[in-house]
Amino acid sequence: MTEKWFPSLPEFATPEDERLHRKQRLAAGFRLFAKFGFEEGVAGHITARDPIEPDTFWVNPFAVPFAHVKQSDLIRVDHNGEVVEGNYHVNTAAFAIHSQVHAARPDVVAAAHSHSTHGRALSALGATLEPITQDVCAFYNDHALFDDYTGVVTDIEEGKRIAHALGDNKALILRNHGLLTVGQSVDSAVFWFITMERSCQVQLLAKAAGTVVHIDEEQAAKTHEQVGTDFVGWLSFQPLYAKISREQPDLLD
Ligand SMILES: [Zn+2]
Repeated sequence: MTEKWFPSLPEFATPEDERLHRKQRLAAGFRLFAKFGFEEGVAGHITARDPIEPDTFWVNPFAVPFAHVKQSDLIRVDHNGEVVEGNYHVNTAAFAIHSQVHAARPDVVAAAHSHSTHGRALSALGATLEPITQDVCAFYNDHALFDDYTGVVTDIEEGKRIAHALGDNKALILRNHGLLTVGQSVDSAVFWFITMERSCQVQLLAKAAGTVVHIDEEQAAKTHEQVGTDFVGWLSFQPLYAKISREQPDLLD
């Protein structure tokens, strides 16, 4: 019997290879966010911790459309908010939120945030995700609500409060604002964001249509173990990456 292909986690010969890989995945993340319509003006950011200088992170260049972001456009920002690589400014909110999330969670390689429509709608209700589908169980006892709103996040004290509310979870609903997801790879953080946004949509649709049926606690917890691991998040991103990098190969430039 011939061996069957199955995606496996990448390995790198050098830290420079790993850096390039992260930047390529990050650029793909922006292209996918654009495709899914998650962009709202200049709001929204995805960050990737740098493998060589891990107290710095890569992020999108300010005011460049997600649909245009190339690997070589990404900027690297240090823990003081200074751009240490790249020719663009950094979004102040991106630094205020993401620097504190990366500092509080050494396990987190990437964090994604945007003002996607259904996430924003659920956040306006101050609600969390209910275990009403198999997919949403990825977030069962694994997301939290930041139950406050104090204007556009521009200072790191607010970023610290957001990181504290995130705790050990993979995702956070920022009340009256939007969603935030994290992962041990860019791949998983981006996939969690995409699936979380859709789960918000499903919950809003289902509850508007009638009375939802909850998956019982035991099954929801078991399903979380099946669909909610970081590896599953990584794996689920692979077809999306294959699709977007074939369709828009300039993202790798
Ligand atoms: Zn925001």
